[in-house]
Amino acid sequence: MEHANKYPHARLIRLGVGDTTQPIPQVISSAMAELVENAMQAMRKAIAETFYKNMDITSNEIFVSDGAQCDISRVQMLFGSNVSVAVQDPSFPAYVDSSVIIGQAGNYDEKKCKYKKIVYMSCGSSDNNFFPDLSKVPRTDVIFFCSPNNPTGHAASKAELERLVDFARHNGSIIVYDSAYASYISDHSCPKSIFEVPGAKEVAIEVSSFSKLAGFTGVRLGWTVVPKELSYSNGFPVIHDYNRIVCTCFNGASNIAQAGGLACLSPQGYKALRSTISYYMDNAKILVDTFTSLRLNVYGGKNAPYLWVHFPGSKSWDIFNEILDKTHILTVPGRGFGYGGEEFIRVSAFASREAIFEASARLKKHFHDIGYRYLLRR
Ligand SMILES: *Cc1c(COP(=O)(O)O)cnc(C)c1O
Repeated sequence: MEHANKYPHARLIRLGVGDTTQPIPQVISSAMAELVENAMQAMRKAIAETFYKNMDITSNEIFVSDGAQCDISRVQMLFGSNVSVAVQDPSFPAYVDSSVIIGQAGNYDEKKCKYKKIVYMSCGSSDNNFFPDLSKVPRTDVIFFCSPNNPTGHAASKAELERLVDFARHNGSIIVYDSAYASYISDHSCPKSIFEVPGAKEVAIEVSSFSKLAGFTGVRLGWTVVPKELSYSNGFPVIHDYNRIVCTCFNGASNIAQAGGLACLSPQGYKALRSTISYYMDNAKILVDTFTSLRLNVYGGKNAPYLWVHFPGSKSWDIFNEILDKTHILTVPGRGFGYGGEEFIRVSAFASREAIFEASARLKKHFHDIGYRYLLRR
């Protein structure tokens, strides 16, 4: 500015900025724009048609993204620090962690191993059939809910989700429903989307992902559904804010990922990924049979690629270490998913069939060798 005032007739040459200056040749940019525009529209439409058939979700209520975990953080930006949240205990760590980062969680209570301002909905054991007793859950502004649940592998039934939706409607809460494992559900009584439940559109956002659906954990592709019926207590539609956040903080999923996503939802693509899902679920069955034959209490593995194995009276880290040391099998201690995961380990069916057979053989040998020690503690 100063320079321009001083030398009004000089033609300044800018060699200071570290960015390219020439436009992308039109033949390329128009091809890209067309592809992105078409891919984006096609993607949203394909998602609506594949996963939300008969639920009356339109493509403009679907936001294609770089993954569900990223969407969880963007949804948190929508809410800000001044809201109360509830999470399942145990659950995928992203809900609690994003809540801590944005400032909703309050201080950590060392004794209880919980954040003071987060409501933990206990659902880690067969005592309440892996679904929280909502009569004991206080009202919160936001409820994070994942089904099929990671880590327990439990898929909520239609009746359970109806109770959850009623609970949210009664309390004026928003449910953030994570359906990352919906494609693993085999039980027909378990909804694959929260929007199968009547009335859910006024209270729920759904985040989902191609990561487990199609092995896209590294490609990065997911989506979030924000129904136009969902509004804040002052009547303002949430979809407008979410659109603003997505456009401000994130410029959409890469078109390479979206091209892959479109291929996933083509008839051949979808068939191929269903076959991979069956492969994993056959793995899960082998593992379930293995733990059952060892007379251990095993849950999950029917509607999700995770098994949740109970060792009553034991600490999950001890079991984890014992299995790692004695069988060289890596599992996850349930405690890593919250206080409610103590006494459990999570076993994943994401592996080759050879690895599953080998793991099965080692587990059988180990638990035979120790003479079913864990059974005696019950
Ligand atoms: C793996 C997983 C995701 C996937 O997140 P992406 O960011 O899409 O990879 C989301 N939610 C849960 C519960 C998961 O286990």
